[in-house]
Amino acid sequence: MASVAQSGEMEVRDLVQDASLTPAQRATLELIRLPNEERIIHASTLRAQIEFELEKETVDLVDRLEEPLWVSKRQLHAVNSCEALYEAQEGEPFEWRVPMTRGQIFHKCVELSVHLSPKRTASELVDAAVSGIISRGDGLAEFLLGLSDVERAEIRSEVAALLQTFFDTFPPLRRAWHPTTELPRKVSLHRGKIVLQGRFDLTVGRPEELTAGRVLIELKTGRSVPHHLDDLRFYALLETLVVGVPPALLASFYVDAGRVQVETVDEDLLRAAMRRTTQSIERLIELRLGQTKAHKRPSGACKWCPVAGSCAPGQAWLEEAATRGAW
Ligand code: SF4
Repeated sequence: MASVAQSGEMEVRDLVQDASLTPAQRATLELIRLPNEERIIHASTLRAQIEFELEKETVDLVDRLEEPLWVSKRQLHAVNSCEALYEAQEGEPFEWRVPMTRGQIFHKCVELSVHLSPKRTASELVDAAVSGIISRGDGLAEFLLGLSDVERAEIRSEVAALLQTFFDTFPPLRRAWHPTTELPRKVSLHRGKIVLQGRFDLTVGRPEELTAGRVLIELKTGRSVPHHLDDLRFYALLETLVVGVPPALLASFYVDAGRVQVETVDEDLLRAAMRRTTQSIERLIELRLGQTKAHKRPSGACKWCPVAGSCAPGQAWLEEAATRGAW
């Protein structure tokens, strides 16, 4: 009798040979599948080892914390880019903006497309996603209701177009691949003093005993930037700490371009993610306790930074960028 991995592998092989796939779907599928013989079998002690090392590296820091420190990919990216911007944003109330709204509706549509049967068209999925979000009555619902009919129609049209590109370039998801959407992961260190958390956009496959098999896929509605790799490596760490087996592959799928970038997960990658996470936790704690000055690191973010007007390095960068014609 075929194992879970073998039957999944056969399904994938069948689909690769499926003549109805577009060249883009076939190319994506080839990249997000890892043949059985290339899947790594990990040590059963890996999870405990990583947890032990993460706690050992942060043990001197937790005593300084009065409130738990919640760490997600956003905080990790923030302290590895402009810390002054991070502090400015922490002090500001969260506000929905149209580009974020598009991303949220798109993710909801993908979620519905995986779980709704029979299959719906892109426009039907957008309608279902928008109705579902509005009926939640949360901040995003209020933001959507506060827009004009024209603005809402524009968002619907843009998301439907993105979704159609996704369907044309991403292989149709089969139940046998065990797809999941919005899979949450939470890891508590030092009895809840530090909490690492994340939510994976889309996963396919799953581990079998100690053999890696899950592919974590982040769906990107914007352009490719280097920190997307770091975000996914952090997710690989979370997956290992929760499940005990790392994912097999990490993938960023850029919906506009219909292209995927993948990385294989091994122990070196996990160690790099661990180093970045512990160093970032240290900075986050120091910043929270006011024991250090936030570093200013100018970049394209200066363009929309709320404190740009009073930031000398940011102003200098903006002036230079304007003369270079950076955008
Ligand atoms: S203007 Fe630029 S350098 Fe200054 S705080 Fe904002 S993002 Fe950082």
